[in-house]
Amino acid sequence: MKTDVFIAGGGVGGLALAAKLASRGVHVVIAEQLKRESPVYKGELLQPKTLAILERLGVLDEVEENGHVIDQLRFQEVHRNRGSTPEEINLTELSYSRVASIYDHALMVPHEKTKEILRNKGKEFDEFFHYLPGARFMGFEKGMAKVKRKKETFYVQAQVYIGAEGRSSPTRDAMNVHVKRKDYNHHFLTVTIPRPESFTKGKIITTSSCFLGLFPLPDNEVRTVFLIKAGEYKRIQEKGLESLYQAYSELEPELAEGVRTIKDWKTVQLMIPFTYHVDRYYSGNLAIIGDAAHTVHPMAGEGMNLAIQDADVLGELLAWCKEEGKNYSDYLHYYEDIRRPRVEFLLNLSHLSALVYSFQYEWWRKFRMKAVQRIYDDDQLHVKQMLNISGLGKWDFTLVDRAVQGSMLPPRQKRVSDQKQRQYLFSEAEDYPWKRNEKGRIS
Ligand SMILES: Cc1cc2nc3c(=O)[nH]c(=O)nc-3n(C[C@H](O)[C@H](O)[C@H](O)COP(=O)(O)OP(=O)(O)OC[C@H]3O[C@@H](n4cnc5c(N)ncnc54)[C@H](O)[C@@H]3O)c2cc1C
Repeated sequence: MKTDVFIAGGGVGGLALAAKLASRGVHVVIAEQLKRESPVYKGELLQPKTLAILERLGVLDEVEENGHVIDQLRFQEVHRNRGSTPEEINLTELSYSRVASIYDHALMVPHEKTKEILRNKGKEFDEFFHYLPGARFMGFEKGMAKVKRKKETFYVQAQVYIGAEGRSSPTRDAMNVHVKRKDYNHHFLTVTIPRPESFTKGKIITTSSCFLGLFPLPDNEVRTVFLIKAGEYKRIQEKGLESLYQAYSELEPELAEGVRTIKDWKTVQLMIPFTYHVDRYYSGNLAIIGDAAHTVHPMAGEGMNLAIQDADVLGELLAWCKEEGKNYSDYLHYYEDIRRPRVEFLLNLSHLSALVYSFQYEWWRKFRMKAVQRIYDDDQLHVKQMLNISGLGKWDFTLVDRAVQGSMLPPRQKRVSDQKQRQYLFSEAEDYPWKRNEKGRIS
């Protein structure tokens, strides 16, 4: 089998890349080991930059129809009272609308739905899009991709090979890159439960020792994420589901009914956060995207987004190479030049957000509460935080910012103008610089 681009892995990253390439007349073969939908929870929050990318792909309307809008994130600190309602001690609301963009919200969409929409987009270009379910990429032999499907083994010859296999990546192995994993002192339990219709805002509820993240989905459901100490899952299971019902109800009484629909621990998924970032994204005519190249702590909801954003830059680059008759491998460095620093920045931001919830001391909680409140009180911090997590741009935090956040300096009164923050939004020339570099202008 021959193709322009071979993609190992049909997750969100692989599918976003394949749909883009096929829509631009680049022939792709995608080998996906699974035959059907995966029951595993793998993230649902689509950040504003991802929505912009999905719009360019022509699927945003469908994604919006299947999503729940998150325009604000609420951070609520409470005192938990045994058997009764919690007492609120602080509430901070951060808003995506502080970002000067038409993409002023995030969206909660079931993971498999996003994949289905991307796959269907690719299928519209059936001359170029060859999706092989139940096909496992085994590695490289004789310079070709070796694929196993049922009992058959075959080879795919491509001009460029992309590893989008997620955390365990044979393409990455073939590139011989270094992966250094960093673990955390906590794990998460995650489960979707029903929510009241009026429960529509994304919310993180914390005490000095508890963390419950709540992210509404369509169809009156809510994704819940409950922090536990690393290695405690077995002990929690032994205590029984009643202890989980109690914890949820005491932190968010509105979900007291919904949580009781969990009848079996099997529906509760253990999520072990860790992070790594490879030093190289490409080698010769091989490149890796998404979780094959980096894994992020889930606190800032970036994993899926980074994969789709990688796919966007790489897809534009490869499509441009095809259109201009250029050799793919000569231009892969652009993909790494653009994506690696942006990913590194968001990995650090997510790591810091994780640290904020990693320690169970009362003094740490007081510090955290003030720091989060400062992001709201100081418009520059608010804009930077939301702009950075949106993926639409990058505006570094300065020492002064951190001093304001740490209450060493007072909050600044000045509101950040839209004109000012637009300097920090990624322009098309920054997203796809090869077009300008090659022609002296954006083509
Ligand atoms: C438990 C869990 C919870 C997560 N929670 C969040 C979250 O809340 N928010 C968030 O943004 N992100 C979250 N993530 C991260 C997010 O799922 C990933 O960052 C994102 O899915 C990466 O996309 P990807 O396409 O790179 O990889 P994946 O989504 O992992 O897709 C890889 C695909 O490749 C296939 N594959 C693997 N090996 C082969 C092979 N050899 N041959 C053929 N096919 C192969 C797999 O079956 C899979 O379909 C979570 C991840 C996990 C595992």
